[in-house]
Amino acid sequence: MGEDLITYTLTLSLINRHCCSLTFIPMLPMYSITTTILLTILIAYSISPSSSSSSSSSSSSSSSSSDDAYPSPYTTPCDVDDVTNLSPIRREVYNDGHIIDISHRFHPDMPSWLSNDGLGQFLKLPASMKNGSRSNVSEMKLVTHTGTHVDAPGHMIDEYFDAGFDVDTLDLHVLNGPALVVDVPRDSNITAEVMKSLNIPKGVMRVLFRTLNTDKRLMWQKQFDTSYVGFLKDGAQWLKDNTDIKLVGIDYLSVAAFVDSVATHRVFFKSRDIILVEGLKLDIVEAGIYNVHCLPLRLLGAEGSPIRCILIK
Ligand SMILES: [Zn+2]
Repeated sequence: MGEDLITYTLTLSLINRHCCSLTFIPMLPMYSITTTILLTILIAYSISPSSSSSSSSSSSSSSSSSDDAYPSPYTTPCDVDDVTNLSPIRREVYNDGHIIDISHRFHPDMPSWLSNDGLGQFLKLPASMKNGSRSNVSEMKLVTHTGTHVDAPGHMIDEYFDAGFDVDTLDLHVLNGPALVVDVPRDSNITAEVMKSLNIPKGVMRVLFRTLNTDKRLMWQKQFDTSYVGFLKDGAQWLKDNTDIKLVGIDYLSVAAFVDSVATHRVFFKSRDIILVEGLKLDIVEAGIYNVHCLPLRLLGAEGSPIRCILIK
C-alpha cells in the first residue's frame, strides 16, 4: 500500500509540475528498493531538457499526451483555453451601463504635457516568460500627472509640498460620493461669469466639468494641445467664494487654462481642501447626478497620482 501511494503521489506531483513545485508527501521512510528505482526514473524525467521543453509547449497550447494518460483533477487551475480566437473584452461601461468608467486607458499614444509625441512607451517587461522568467512582470515609468490623475496641494505650492501634502493625504470622502456632471458653455474658458451662469446649488460638493475638450476629443489626440479649455483664475476664485465644491473634475490634463495655469492652481490649492481630478473621460456621460468613485494610489511624497474614476448611476 505504501509503495502504491508513493508512486501515485509522485505521479500526481510530476503531472502538476507546471503549476506547482514538485512536492513530496513525507512518506519516504516507507519506501523500498523498487520505489527508489522508480523515484530515480521519475526525477530524471522531470529534470531532463526534453521534458521541460515539452512542458512549456503543453502549458501554452493543449494538454500533453502524458497528461492525457494520467488525468488529474489538480491540473484544472493550470489549464489554458485555446487562445486561437480568444480576445479580452475592454469595457467603458459595466453592469448594463450602471457603472461608467470615466478614466482614460493608459497607452503610448495618449497625450502628455507639452509633448508632441504623446506619452510614449511607459511599460517594459524586464521579466518575461518568453525569455525564461517564471512569470511576466512589467515595470512602468510615468509622470504622476499622466492621463486621468489627481493633483495634491504640493503640486504648485512648494511650502505644502515640503510640509507633506501629498496624494496620500487626500480626503477619500471628497473623492467618493454624489457628484454633478455639468456642461460648460463651449465658447469660453471657465471664468467667474461662466461659473455664475452654471447655477450650481450650494451643498454640491463634487462637480465634473465637461467642456469643449470632450467635443474635440483632446484626450484621444497624441499631440498636446495648449488651446484646451480650463479655469481662469477668477473662475477658480468664484468657485471658492460662492460654492461648496471640493472636488473639481475636468476633461483634459489641467483644470487651469494654459495661459493661467499656475495662478489658477494656487487659488484651488491654497486652502488644501479642494481636490483636482484631471484628464477625465466624459464622452459617454450625460449631464446629471451620479455617484463618483475616485481612488488615487497612496504614493508617499507624490504631488500627483494616476487615478481610477467611475460613475455609478
Ligand atoms: Zn495634474
